[in-house]
Amino acid sequence: MKKIAVLGSTGSIGTQTLEVVRANPDLQVAALAAGSNVEKMERQIREFRPALACMWTTEAAEDLRQRVRDIDVKIVAGMEGLLEIAVFPESQVLVTAIVGMIGIRPTIAAIRAGKDIALANKETLVTAGHIIMPLAGECGVRILPVDSEHSAIFQSLNGEPADRIEKILLTASGGPFRGRNWEQLKEIRVEDALKHPNWVMGQKITIDSATLVNKGLEVMEAKWLFGVGLDRIQVVVHPQSIIHSAVQYVDGAVIAQLGMPDMKLPIQYALFYPDRRYMDGKRVDLFELGSLTFEKPDTDTFPGLALAYRAARLGGSMPTVYNAANEKAVALFLERKIEYLQIPELIGEAMESHRPIPDPGVEAVLEAEAETYEFIAGRMKR
Ligand code: NAD
Ligand code: MG
Repeated sequence: MKKIAVLGSTGSIGTQTLEVVRANPDLQVAALAAGSNVEKMERQIREFRPALACMWTTEAAEDLRQRVRDIDVKIVAGMEGLLEIAVFPESQVLVTAIVGMIGIRPTIAAIRAGKDIALANKETLVTAGHIIMPLAGECGVRILPVDSEHSAIFQSLNGEPADRIEKILLTASGGPFRGRNWEQLKEIRVEDALKHPNWVMGQKITIDSATLVNKGLEVMEAKWLFGVGLDRIQVVVHPQSIIHSAVQYVDGAVIAQLGMPDMKLPIQYALFYPDRRYMDGKRVDLFELGSLTFEKPDTDTFPGLALAYRAARLGGSMPTVYNAANEKAVALFLERKIEYLQIPELIGEAMESHRPIPDPGVEAVLEAEAETYEFIAGRMKR
């Protein structure tokens, strides 16, 4: 029996994680955490019977407590609650399916407590990878990628040492606006940006996919996970999302992982690694696909990707500024307070105004986040 805890259980990755649990009787849910969806959390508690559950606000936690009075489950709230879930003694693996930098503290706490991390929460690695990766090494825990591209790279590596990697080929669907130019992107509405061609995901990552910021974050995620320099990470636009990424080795061999776009595969792979289990679902049919195509990313139209390389090269606290400015800009776009094209603009401006702090600790990372939020708020007042 393997026991897991899930941060962000009511979201896209969270619910798919629970689907994987449902299909594998030897997986058990020890603890769950979510933001505000009390109804969904109640249903999850009734089905999966965790011993511990967390809601972000105390009101939501109280509401939940009343709803599940008949069940033996402890309900906690806030950051303290998230930390309690992260280190919950009964669980062996923490699935980080929460969105944003709020995942940093719980992830660090879980690593210190010796839990393996099934990591979906890329923002945490982008901003605190320099803290998390060495800590995981010291504590002897594994960081198992859930992001489909990184899982594909992990599967393609299959234990090969990092110095055999010549290049990582990080595939990207190109998002819903692939092929358009800057002029055509002026009129983009929220609804257009929320229509991803191949994946159904949470709102933030869907917008990130439409700006290529998601790929930018993934470049940094790959750098930390696989210890490969930025000049060895090449983004390849592959609109069919069948090749989930590949590794080019020093002898020229390219090993890739292919599959239908379905996040349950990387989730299940992370949970059972190094075992590979049966999974139900549609298989790749090469005859049906006929052809797979590839393009260079258009970084002029989608500057979010080039800005990510720039932030990663500058390093220190700059990736935090890139990420925090994006988080805020995406929220403003979803509230219809800014235009689509202002997202990369605001990221660029926030980076311009920041002098990176080298090797920031957790406090400094969170300070850079807060400063960036303030910068954007000030910028909106003008
Ligand atoms: P989502 O918005 O669907 O779900 C987010 C979850 O986090 C929800 O359960 C929400 O309640 C919870 N949450 C948010 N704020 C919280 C808080 N303060 N306290 C407790 N819980 C909180 O997001 P998602 O699409 O599932 O993405 C989750 C993470 O996985 C992101 O980092 C994303 O980049 C990454 N990811 C997602 C996909 C995908 O297919 N959805 C693929 C690759 C990577
Ligand atoms: Mg991805």
